Amino acid sequence: MRTPLLAVDGVLHLDGVSLEALASAADTPAYVYSASTISTRYRELTETLAAVPHHVHYACKANASLGILAALRALGAGVDVVSGGELYRAQQAGFAPAGIIFGGVGKSRRELEAAVAAQVNIITVESEAELREISAIASAQGTRARIGVRVNPEVAVDSVHAYIKTGQKGDKFGVPWDEAERVAHLAHTLPAVTLVAVGMHIGSQLTNLAPLADGLQRLESLVGRLRAAGVTTLEFLDIGGGLYVPYNDEPAADLAGYAAIVVPALQRIGLTLIVEPGRFLVAEAGVLLTRVLYRKRTGGRDVLVTDAGMSDLLRPSHYDAYHRILAVRPRANQATLDVVGPICESGDFLALDRAMEDVGAGELLVLCTTGAYGSCMASNYNSRTRACEVMVREGQWTVITERETYADLVRRETVTPQWRTQA
Ligand SMILES: *Cc1c(COP(=O)(O)O)cnc(C)c1O
Repeated sequence: MRTPLLAVDGVLHLDGVSLEALASAADTPAYVYSASTISTRYRELTETLAAVPHHVHYACKANASLGILAALRALGAGVDVVSGGELYRAQQAGFAPAGIIFGGVGKSRRELEAAVAAQVNIITVESEAELREISAIASAQGTRARIGVRVNPEVAVDSVHAYIKTGQKGDKFGVPWDEAERVAHLAHTLPAVTLVAVGMHIGSQLTNLAPLADGLQRLESLVGRLRAAGVTTLEFLDIGGGLYVPYNDEPAADLAGYAAIVVPALQRIGLTLIVEPGRFLVAEAGVLLTRVLYRKRTGGRDVLVTDAGMSDLLRPSHYDAYHRILAVRPRANQATLDVVGPICESGDFLALDRAMEDVGAGELLVLCTTGAYGSCMASNYNSRTRACEVMVREGQWTVITERETYADLVRRETVTPQWRTQA
């Protein structure tokens, strides 16, 4: 775990800000993000890839809060969006069209129309039907769309959970390998579209880089065949995201090994590299700050009930994910505890059977490495208001997302239905 949490006078600080003082000022539960960690990860990655021309497009599904997007834009990142809502957020955060890639397996006509109208740098297609639809939309708008073809390289992927493998044969993502050349060639010949990229994204939390090398080899052969067939418009090779993030004591992603695979391949291929990291840039920047409401003993277990639950952080129950839990006032005594949320659901846990500090009611905890796939997967289940989000930097803090209010919960709803007859 590489989150810069530091105990000062017996209280954990993040980027020089006391988490205890922050809990008093901003209340709990709260997501807290270290600005220094985001910039450190961003710089590590750009230094890793310095030998080849490259663009880093942050996969904002990991955390699409405007404050996070603005921080990454200020560092020089582009953005990768997968829905009309994420496109809207990217625009609100000030990304120029040239800095936006629009991907995703199931874009609606309305979303494609918005992407074409916005003139994003690349719309990544995942099927022939989608490609034809974009060509028709761009023709109707009297413009051209820049197209990337996402290929499923059909490589065997090692990852920590089946839900985050995406580049194997039969996965729903990308154009199947045996159709890739034909669809890319179609993108070259259809009206109102220009084929500018081919790419892949084989999964998240890649524990082994061999599938990346295998996939790159396939993309290299595809680019060679397209060029031989007269395609001269390619600018980018997109290798997706998936860089590994340690959640406990595992080693960090092997960036040197990553560069050793990616850099020579891109030098041979001669296109500009695009990478789409999500988790790598933001996961370690974030902690979820929560207060213990009760400690009770039930069925021989010691249980902490916290004010954060699965509606704030879904990963433990959805992916069986591990998040390290630390007391904001570190203590020496250890215990084996369950940490559960307040939601009426047995699946609402943050940790089970966890060896951790022996804390009691009223104390503050942080769930570590929650900057990615945390706040963005939060829900209002049990009509819980979603947590605020705070950015910390060099001893200062700022609320980047306000805590939801009860009025927010019912804003779209009505108690006075306006009945209409069928049109
Ligand atoms: C989810 C996703 C990413 C980011 O994956 P991380 O593991 O968070 O880096 C990148 N590209 C695409 C197409 C994705 O779906």
